[in-house]
Amino acid sequence: MDRVIERRQFLKRAAAGAITRCGGPRWLYGQPAPSGVRRLTDKLVVVDGGGANVLAFSAPDGLVLVDSGAPKSGDQVMAALKNDALKIVTGPSKVQTLFNTHYHADQTGNNEVFGAAGAKIIAHEHTRQWMSSDYWVPDEDRYETARPQAARPAETFQTTGSLKLGTEQIDYGHLPLAHTDGDIYVFFKTSNVLAVGDVASPLRDPALDYFTGAWIGGRLDAMDTILKLSNEQTRIVPASGPIITRAEFKAERDMMEEVRSRVWKQVLQGDSPKDMLQAGVLKGLARTWKDPYKFLYDAGKGMWAHHNKLDPSLI
Ligand SMILES: [Zn+2]
Repeated sequence: MDRVIERRQFLKRAAAGAITRCGGPRWLYGQPAPSGVRRLTDKLVVVDGGGANVLAFSAPDGLVLVDSGAPKSGDQVMAALKNDALKIVTGPSKVQTLFNTHYHADQTGNNEVFGAAGAKIIAHEHTRQWMSSDYWVPDEDRYETARPQAARPAETFQTTGSLKLGTEQIDYGHLPLAHTDGDIYVFFKTSNVLAVGDVASPLRDPALDYFTGAWIGGRLDAMDTILKLSNEQTRIVPASGPIITRAEFKAERDMMEEVRSRVWKQVLQGDSPKDMLQAGVLKGLARTWKDPYKFLYDAGKGMWAHHNKLDPSLI
């Protein structure tokens, strides 16, 4: 059979759910199934949490999740874990451990659901602090209220930590000021799958929560940490969007380095985000921004907050 036709028929059958585990892969690597579940290995899947990625690992005593999905997607995530994910991974469906890559609602939206059901929530200490008190949201000119106790991380760390579950070695660590002040990676080392939260942005605009101290320099340092941890076979899971390779992640890192250099030159001139936009600071790059003004506003704020690290002589 012609290979193109063969592939087309396979995709059709896969989309219809006709190809089961017994008859071969139920769906192709990295491609979402109709239910929105993407298979990485026999133990790792990515579930759609209302537009955000929820990574699920099947351990002997239950599931380990990285991020809990966007607010109000709890039922969807639960159903995907129970009905679809368990067709790929085996083992108990109860969530025993939940990592939060940072405090944003898209990553912690269903923490209450899993926390109340007994999951231990692990995050960086700064993530716990953001979730434990009311805080100002400058973009929206309002206060966000503290999250209920069941939603807050019960176990926190400052630098790194590790877990051994069955045969899987799970290492996690802080990525300071890359996107917030509490970003972490969670590395399923044995499976070579690395969750990096919003430190990779294959689809959405790279975001810098400057109000927490995040800035381009922190983002680049964090991206270099990820590059050191990974190899060519590592599959990198961002907070949203497709699962990417190390080469794709490195391309984003190199683009960000160029952005840092261009934005810093403009900031030194005293340029506003509007000036930078008009000067075409984001033109000719490998990607386009959906909201370039917001990115440049946040990037500029972050540069000023950390200007002594860029040019100590600047007053
Ligand atoms: Zn975020």
